Amino acid sequence: MAPLVKYTTLFINNQWVDAKSGKTFETFSPNDGSVIARVSEGDKADIDLAVSAAKAAFHRNSEWRLLDASARGRLLNKFAELVERDIQYLGELESYNNGMVLGMAVGIVQKSINGARYAASLADKIQGDTIPADGDLFSYTLKQPVGVCGLILPWNAPILMFINKVCTALAAGCTVVVKPAEQTPLTSLALAALLKEAGVPAGVVNVVTGFGPGAGTSLTHHPDVAKISFTGSLEVGKHIQQAAGKTNLKRVTLELGGKSPLVIMNDADLKLAVPFAARGVFGNQGQMCFAASRLFVQSGIYEQFVEEAVEFAKNIKVGNPVDPGVEHGPQVDREMMAKVLGYIEKGKQEGAKLMCGGKRIGSTGYFIEPTVFVDVQDDMIIAREEIFGPVQSIFKFETLDEVIERANNTNYGLASGIFTNNINNALHFARHVEAGNVWINTYLASTAQTPFGGFKDSGVGREKGIDCVDEYLEVKTVTISLQKEF
Ligand code: NAP
Ligand code: MG
Repeated sequence: MAPLVKYTTLFINNQWVDAKSGKTFETFSPNDGSVIARVSEGDKADIDLAVSAAKAAFHRNSEWRLLDASARGRLLNKFAELVERDIQYLGELESYNNGMVLGMAVGIVQKSINGARYAASLADKIQGDTIPADGDLFSYTLKQPVGVCGLILPWNAPILMFINKVCTALAAGCTVVVKPAEQTPLTSLALAALLKEAGVPAGVVNVVTGFGPGAGTSLTHHPDVAKISFTGSLEVGKHIQQAAGKTNLKRVTLELGGKSPLVIMNDADLKLAVPFAARGVFGNQGQMCFAASRLFVQSGIYEQFVEEAVEFAKNIKVGNPVDPGVEHGPQVDREMMAKVLGYIEKGKQEGAKLMCGGKRIGSTGYFIEPTVFVDVQDDMIIAREEIFGPVQSIFKFETLDEVIERANNTNYGLASGIFTNNINNALHFARHVEAGNVWINTYLASTAQTPFGGFKDSGVGREKGIDCVDEYLEVKTVTISLQKEF
């Protein structure tokens, strides 16, 4: 049975309100293309209202700003408890709107809860320094919240993104306006209701559903927004960085996907490497910023690895994401499905060898077969551009130094991995690969405690980890004269 959709309007100042224009848009189930609900289409007028609510909630005398930091932490812990109470429902709603396999959706909500609790634990540990300044001076620093933050979310892991960004911003003492992706507005609204239930004061969190060109750009251009945190495509990330400098100088954190290399050395344990490589690119139907979309396999094991990888891909169970045993659901929408199928065609045209998959499954919903290409060359389009779909591209290499050069030959730098039983090779790779994350004999292992973000075009700044709140703080230096009056 489909989960109940409780909220479909904007959430501003702790109230559920229609868009000023009265407009709504349809949101779909990618499993069968059916309409789930109509959701309010927020635009500039609604962003203006939401930002002004967030600005009022950030006033130095507001309830929120007067709250002890430990109380902010307790509110976030309360929120985490409520998310845990509703974990099954939230997982189902995510799966319904996004197509994520239910077990994975519930697992990601659990990860998000860990993130919320981690952020909560940081709220009262935001401390400055005392500084031995030259001369008869005494200096100390205060770390203060940057202000109203615009949080712009992608559709591939909406709950995780919402919770990570919102809880970090709130731990720092900021107030926020969230713009969820057009495809997946429902879980952000459900989470807003839980923040209200947890007791977060009015205006601290606002959610404006709508489109990038309307609600999104209004947020990035708003002069009262001090910071934007965005996860999504490189193309939009570049627009956001430019927009952020137009009406004021916003701080920006950008997480922009990648073309991540995973290296399998001759001495790797294939029992581990084959499934990790497969899950690293087929998980969430390939809709993962850190997808292992360039799989480099050393020549000594190339044939055997390819055989096992193809066998693995062929055995992935595809179907309705809520059915037990299903491992692989639909792409998020028709447009993304068409984009991925387009890349598969380009791969074939450019001479990559298709070993399995490559086609749409059926005509209902947006399903694509797990697809494996071998003999992929570095200059092919499928080797350079982010596909964001279930396409494993396998490359052959001879030496570690060669593969490091090739792995780094990309404008992206989000994640990377190596499977080897030689510690020297692993550490050499970790030192020289240009990526924000390196996984050794594992992949996708990212927790609340570990910083996450990219080198090069994969982004600016880091999320998670002990320094994550710094992205939402300003440092203020206070200097006192110690000169005595005689
Ligand atoms: P996107 O266009 O980058 O969208 C991400 C978010 O930004 C959405 O909320 C979107 O709103 C909003 N947005 C779009 N244009 C904007 C603008 N000019 N100003 C402010 N906000 C704006 O991503 P997408 O179209 O959903 O996916 C396209 C590609 O992005 C994918 O194929 C994939 O390669 C990549 N991607 C990467 C990640 C990641 O985790 N790094 C996640 C998702 C997608 P709307 O939803 O209303 O357009
Ligand atoms: Mg979009």
